[in-house]
Amino acid sequence: MRIPFLDLAAQAGSAGASVAEALAEGWYVGGPRVAAFEQELARYLGPAVEVVGVGSGTDAIELALRGLGVGPGDEVITVANTCVPTVAGIEAAGATPVLVDADPETATIDPARLAAALTARTRAVVPVHLYGRPADMTSIGAFAHEHGLLLVEDAAQAHGASIGETRVGSIGHAAAFSFYPTKNLGALGDAGAIVTSLDDVADRAVKLREYGQTPDRIAHLRADQSRLDTMQAAVLHAKLPHLERWNARRRAIAERYADALRDGPVRLPAGGGEHVHHLYVVRSGERDRLRARLLERGVETLVHYPLAVHQHPAWRELERPGALRESEQAAAEVVSLPLYPQLTDDEVDAVISALLA
Ligand SMILES: *Cc1c(COP(=O)(O)O)cnc(C)c1O
Repeated sequence: MRIPFLDLAAQAGSAGASVAEALAEGWYVGGPRVAAFEQELARYLGPAVEVVGVGSGTDAIELALRGLGVGPGDEVITVANTCVPTVAGIEAAGATPVLVDADPETATIDPARLAAALTARTRAVVPVHLYGRPADMTSIGAFAHEHGLLLVEDAAQAHGASIGETRVGSIGHAAAFSFYPTKNLGALGDAGAIVTSLDDVADRAVKLREYGQTPDRIAHLRADQSRLDTMQAAVLHAKLPHLERWNARRRAIAERYADALRDGPVRLPAGGGEHVHHLYVVRSGERDRLRARLLERGVETLVHYPLAVHQHPAWRELERPGALRESEQAAAEVVSLPLYPQLTDDEVDAVISALLA
């Protein structure tokens, strides 16, 4: 049995009719469909948030920070155990990313290491809900509050994840979502959104996504553009009603893996009911051999991510006030198993058998 790492086509079907309607309407960037999706997502995320659609998740990080007034001369603390767009978005805002290490248990930013990264120039913290697992927002929020810092969630992997009754993306001063096709809520191309409960930030974000202009075409801020196009909004509108069911299926698959692999050859990810399992990431000291063995049995795997941020050639000079050993160790050991809502139990069992063989 061949088990692909992802099967995006299996999920795209529900969007066809919605795209056909949008095509017929003849409005291809912005417009009522974008506004409708923004409202639907806001309703889904929480009682008091506004959503501003933009061109990508990276742009959403940049514009959320700029909307909050973070820019040149400001330091933004984030985690070394993430993908490059987190720091690319911070740097695009003109701010300086400062890296801290991950917690060994959760793989998300370690709140105990924030204090060592704090300087007089620190303006914000960007925790990443990595792999769909909410970061420790209680401790991070307390730290941010104590030091007067802004909190911007990188929620690009965590659509629908929650802490208690609160959805991630509605906790910080602002948040960034990506709708890159592989995400839990994915478009058929690039798309993203800024989420905030602060009216003035939403207002600035609306200007920043389109030349700094108000609808009367008067530019109040200097900006280029980053728009959520109408076709992607139509796709996302069609898919959002399925997100809860898809996330539940992701959780069921994660449980099936966890039950069967408890005594297996790999280290399993820490559990957590609010997790939405964007990725199911196990760890092995013999990753390459493990991946080759799985591939022989038809099981495709990927590595998220092969390097911690500061290990990439382009990002070696980033500020890092402490050791980043946990992030480096994770990068050396992580391997992602297939996990998506359309995966059948038989396929999951085949992955398990391949791992236990
Ligand atoms: C996907 C992703 C982004 C960037 O989103 P794009 O839409 O690809 O720009 C940022 N942060 C994290 C954690 C992501 O997974």
